[in-house]
Amino acid sequence: MSSRSDSLECAICLDIFDTPICLDCGHCFCKKCILKLQEIAKENGEKKTSKCPLCQTKFKQRRPWFYKPCVPLANLVENYKRQLIPKVEFKFDFDLENVPDDVLKGLP
Ligand SMILES: [Zn+2]
Ligand SMILES: [Zn+2]
Repeated sequence: MSSRSDSLECAICLDIFDTPICLDCGHCFCKKCILKLQEIAKENGEKKTSKCPLCQTKFKQRRPWFYKPCVPLANLVENYKRQLIPKVEFKFDFDLENVPDDVLKGLP
């Protein structure tokens, strides 16, 4: 179970967006995932376009630096990650009542 928000999840790597880029079709993926799509498309002989894996809309392949992150989404991701900063749960399993007598006797 995770409380991860689906809207911040990249449908390609199934992880939280890493530099979210929104394609013309409106779907957003990590920059690295889009670049990966381009690589795969190139291997398949598609030199100019790649397809959005969700809706199959073609998008123009671009140089990595042409992809500008979707700022509002990137901010959401930042906020989300901040929330993830480990909330350390201090759990005290120590229960005096269950401590064996001989251990208690050894205490000062
Ligand atoms: Zn991704
Ligand atoms: Zn799409």
